[in-house]
Amino acid sequence: MTRDRDDRLAEAKAKDIGDIAQQLEICGLLPWPPRHGMESVGPCPKCGGRDRFSINQRDGVFNCRRCEGRGDVISLVRFVRDCSMPAAIDWLIGPEAEISEIERNARRKASDENRRRNEDRADRERQREIKAAGALWREVAKNDHSALRGYLDARGITADLLPEIPAVLRYHPALPYMVRAERGFREVHRGPAMLAVVQQPSGRGIGCHRTWFDPASPQGKIALRDPETDADLPRKKMRGSKRGAAIRLHTPDHDWHQLVMGEGIETTLTAMCAGMWPEAAFWAGIDLGNISGRRQSGKGLKYAGLPDLADAEAFIPPPWVRELILIEDGDSDPRDTRAKLQAGARRAMAKIPGLRACIVACPPGRDLNDLLQEGGIDHVE
Ligand SMILES: [Zn+2]
Repeated sequence: MTRDRDDRLAEAKAKDIGDIAQQLEICGLLPWPPRHGMESVGPCPKCGGRDRFSINQRDGVFNCRRCEGRGDVISLVRFVRDCSMPAAIDWLIGPEAEISEIERNARRKASDENRRRNEDRADRERQREIKAAGALWREVAKNDHSALRGYLDARGITADLLPEIPAVLRYHPALPYMVRAERGFREVHRGPAMLAVVQQPSGRGIGCHRTWFDPASPQGKIALRDPETDADLPRKKMRGSKRGAAIRLHTPDHDWHQLVMGEGIETTLTAMCAGMWPEAAFWAGIDLGNISGRRQSGKGLKYAGLPDLADAEAFIPPPWVRELILIEDGDSDPRDTRAKLQAGARRAMAKIPGLRACIVACPPGRDLNDLLQEGGIDHVE
C-alpha cells in the first residue's frame, strides 16, 4: 500500500515541468521552449506582471517573486489549479485505481525514463555552466588583483592583517550584472567585482563566485536594484556549480588538521585575520545550504539540524581534518542558520571518524577574539 503511494509520488515528481506547463496552458504567457538555457520568464498566471514568473526546466522548478509561489512540478499544479496535493497527483498521473501488474510496470518504466531524461538534461546544462565559469576565471587572470585591496580594506581586512591577496581571488574592473528577461538577458549594472574560484574536493574548479562592490561606499557594499522591476538584487552570484565545493582562501602547505569555514569570503577572511587558529585551513562554504547539504525533513525537523546522509553531493571536509570550526554570522534568522551549521557539522562527524566540530557564533558588535576570551564556543554533539 505504502509502496504504491511512493510509486505514485515518484511518478508524479518525474513529470517534465515543461510538458506540464503546456498541459496547464500557461505557456502562452511564457516564451516556450525557453530561448536561453533552461529558464523561461514571463507574467505569472496568478498575479500577472511582466517577468516575475519563471519556470526552470533544468531544475524542474517554478517561482513567482510576487505571490511567493515556488516549488516542483506537483507544486506548480497545485499553484495553477488551486488544489490539494492528492488532487495534483491525480491530475498528473490519473486517479488511483486498480491497475494490472503489467500496467504498473509500464508506468514505473516510463517514470524512470522521465527521471533519467530530466537528469541528463540537468547534467548537460550544468556542464555548460561550469565551462562558462572557467572561461570567466581565465579571462581575468592577467588583471591587477591588488585592486581588490580597496574593497577588502573597506571590509576591515587590511593589508596589515592580510599581506597577500589569496590566489583564489581575482579582480574584474567592469563585470556585467545580467538578469533574465522575457527574451534572453538584460544588463542592469556593470562595475568592479571580486571573483573567486570554487573547487571540488578533488581540487577541480567547478564554479566562479562573483561579488560586485562599490569602492566609494563606506563598507564597499553595493546596493543593486533592477530598474525595470524595482527589485533588490543580491550582490553575490554564482556561475557554474558549487555543490560540495568551497572557496579555499588559505590551505597550509604542511600537514593540517583544522578547517575553519565561514559562509562568505569576508567572514572567513576575518576569522583568518583573527589569528586564533594559526595552523588551520580557511575555506568559505559559499552559502549555508552548501555547508549543510540536504537535511532530514518532516514534522518537527525544521530546526533539528540533522543531515540527510544520503546526500552524495554535500560538502565533506578532507579525511585528514580532525577539527571543523564553523563560523556563524549574526544574521537574519539565527535558528535556521544554527540548524544548517549543525547539519554540516554532524555530517562531517558522521563521515569522518574522530572529527570534532564546533560552531563559533558572533553576536552583532562582537568579534571573534572577544568570544574566544569568554569561551562562547559551542561544541556540536
Ligand atoms: Zn504571481
